[in-house]
Amino acid sequence: MSDESTSAPNFIRTQVREDLEAGRNQTVVTRFPPEPNGFLHIGHAKSICLNFGIAEQFGGYCNLRFDDTNPVREEQIYIDSIREDVTWLGFEWAGEVRFASDYFTQLHEWACHLIRNGDAYVDDLGADEIREYRGTLTEPGRPSPWRDRSPEENLVLFEQMRNGEFGEGEKVLRAKIDMASPNINLRDPVIYRIRHASHHQSGEQWKIYPSYDFAHGQSDAIEGVTHSICTLEFEDHRPLYDWFLEHLPVPARPRQYEFARLNLSYTVTSKRKLRMLVDRGIVDGWDDPRMPTIAGMRRRGYTPASIRHFCDMIGVTRADSLVDIQMLYHAIRSDLEDNAPRAMCVLKPLKVVLTNVPEDHEEHFEVAGHPARSDMGTRRLPLSREIWIDADDFMEEPPKKYFRLAPEREVRLRNAYVIRCDEVIHDAQGEVSELRCSVDFETLGKNPEGRKVKGVIHWVSAAHAIPVEVRNYDNLFQVEQPDRDRDGDFLEHLNESSLEVIQAWGEPALADVAPESRYQFERVGYFCADRHDTRPEHPVFNRTVSLKDGWARAQKRQDS
Ligand code: ATP
Ligand code: MG
Repeated sequence: MSDESTSAPNFIRTQVREDLEAGRNQTVVTRFPPEPNGFLHIGHAKSICLNFGIAEQFGGYCNLRFDDTNPVREEQIYIDSIREDVTWLGFEWAGEVRFASDYFTQLHEWACHLIRNGDAYVDDLGADEIREYRGTLTEPGRPSPWRDRSPEENLVLFEQMRNGEFGEGEKVLRAKIDMASPNINLRDPVIYRIRHASHHQSGEQWKIYPSYDFAHGQSDAIEGVTHSICTLEFEDHRPLYDWFLEHLPVPARPRQYEFARLNLSYTVTSKRKLRMLVDRGIVDGWDDPRMPTIAGMRRRGYTPASIRHFCDMIGVTRADSLVDIQMLYHAIRSDLEDNAPRAMCVLKPLKVVLTNVPEDHEEHFEVAGHPARSDMGTRRLPLSREIWIDADDFMEEPPKKYFRLAPEREVRLRNAYVIRCDEVIHDAQGEVSELRCSVDFETLGKNPEGRKVKGVIHWVSAAHAIPVEVRNYDNLFQVEQPDRDRDGDFLEHLNESSLEVIQAWGEPALADVAPESRYQFERVGYFCADRHDTRPEHPVFNRTVSLKDGWARAQKRQDS
C-alpha cells in the first residue's frame, strides 16, 4: 500500500531520512511489537501507522513481532486478533509473523555470555527484597549478598533454573550493572525469571523466561531492526537497551526512539482496563462497538482509511497531550460523507396517512445512491398511502424558525412531494399518535406554486418499510479523562446510556444488506450493518457517528 496518508513528516521520519542519507543505514527496518495479552486499540494504531508507514515511505520493511515473554497472560486468540487487525488496517508485515519466543535459545545463550563475562549473576533474593535493596530515586541501591558469585557457580545455578530445579521466585538472573546508578533501570535489572507455565508457542520447553528489557533489544538486533520505535515510558530504559547491545555479540546495532503515546478523550487505552470492561461484562466483548479497540471500531463502522487518516491528523511528537475524540469522529465522517451510500431510515416512527393517496396506490421514485457519486447508481423508493416520519420532525406548537412539519404547515418529503398537515390525532394519553396530511402532486422535483417550503424530512412507506434494529452508541465514559485520577476507579465514570437499542423502519433497499455495509441514514448519521448480528431480512445497524461535526465547527470558530 502506498498511501500518502501515512507519510506526514515528523521527527522520527526526519531521523530515518538523515540516517539513510548519511549512510548509517542502507535500508530502514522497523517492527511493531505487541504483547499478545489483549486486543489492539486506537493507541496501537498510532504505533502501527508510524512503524509500517515509515517502512513504506522509505522502501524498507516492518516486522510484526509478538513480544511473548510472559506466558501467564498471553493467549492465542490475541495473536489471531492482532494479525487480523493489522491486516485490516491495510498493512503488510515482512515475511512470517515473528515471536520473541523464536529467539529464546539465542537469548539464553546470550544470558550465559553475560554470566561468563561477569556481567550477570543468579540472585536468591525474593521479589520484595530485590525491591527493597534497589533503593529509591533519592537513595542508591545496595548490592545483593549474592552479587559476587563466581561465573562458574552462576552458570551451574542458571542451568538448574532452566531445568526446573527451583520454584518460581526462588531465584532470578540479574544483569550486573550499577546499584548506585541514578537510573533505577540500571540497578541490576532482572533478566530471567522462573515460570513453571506452559507457553502458547514454546510449550513446556522453558522453565525460565527473559524479561521484556532483555528480550526486546536483542530481538531487534536479531531481526536487523534499525529504528526501534516505542512510547515515552521506555525512555529511561534506553540506557539499558544500549547496555545489553554493547555487552553482547549481537549481529546489528538498532537504536531506540520514543514518541508520546496517544491519549484520547472519553476513552481508556490501557489493555488492563479494557480487559476489565470485558471480564466484568460491562461491554459485549473486545469488539463491542463502544470499545476503542480496532476490532470494536471496525464493528462500529470505522474504515481502515479513516483510522489511518486520524493517525495522520494527530501527528507524532514527544509531548504528551490529550486528543479530542471529536477528531476521530471527524475522520470517519469525512470518509463516509464521500463514500457511504444514502438511505432513509426512521428511528422514532410517527404514522402519517396521506389522505388524498388512494388505498391501493403505489409509486416508485428512482433516487440517487449518493448525491455526488453517479457510480453508486440508483435505488427504488416506494410511496403508498401510509408513511412513517420521525416524531422529532413534527411539533404541535412549533417555535419560530421551525421549518419541519406542524399543523397546517407544509414540508417536503425527501425525494418526493410536498405534504401539508391537515389533522393531528391523539391517543388516550393525549400524545400525538398519527397525522393526516395531503399531498401536493404538483411538487415532484419542483417548487410549489406561490409559496416557499423550506423544510425537508426523511420518511419511509409503511407498507414497504422493513424493520431495522438500530444500536445507537455514545461514549463509554462521561468524563474527558476517565483514568486521570490514578488512585480512583475509572469505572465510576461509566456512561450508563452508552447504548440505546431501538426498532426503526428502513427503506426496502436495506432489507438484504451485507454485514459491514455502511450508509448515511439521511438527516440522522452514519450507520454500519453489524458484522455478527445482521441476517437476511434482519438488518442490525450500529451508529458509527452522528452527522453533526463538532470538531470541524470548533476549527472554523478558531479560524474566524
Ligand atoms: P501493556 O500495558 O499491556 O504493556 P501496551 O499498550 O504497552 O500495553 P503493547 O502490546 O506492549 O501494549 O504495545 C505494543 C506497541 O504499541 C508498543 O510499542 C507500545 O509502545 C505501543 N502503544 C501502546 N499503547 C499506545 C498508545 N496509547 N499510543 C501509542 N502507542 C502505543
Ligand atoms: Mg507494553
